[in-house]
Amino acid sequence: MNKRWTIGKINEFVENNSESKLLTTEYQGFSQKLLFECECGNKFEKTFKKFKNNNQRKCDACQSPKASR
Ligand SMILES: [Zn+2]
Repeated sequence: MNKRWTIGKINEFVENNSESKLLTTEYQGFSQKLLFECECGNKFEKTFKKFKNNNQRKCDACQSPKASR
């Protein structure tokens, strides 16, 4: 089973593991797209699964696109 994440834990993970900021305030599950703000100021949407497991922790402009799919 997946570890159960709350928006608070996700926020903590984002703060500790990336330069991005979490803007979404409600978490509904791994398939939900969360809104982040990149360190460059761009906003981007990503599921937490991708953010965490695929290391997609920046906006498309900062992130190399090779791992996007
Ligand atoms: Zn960026």
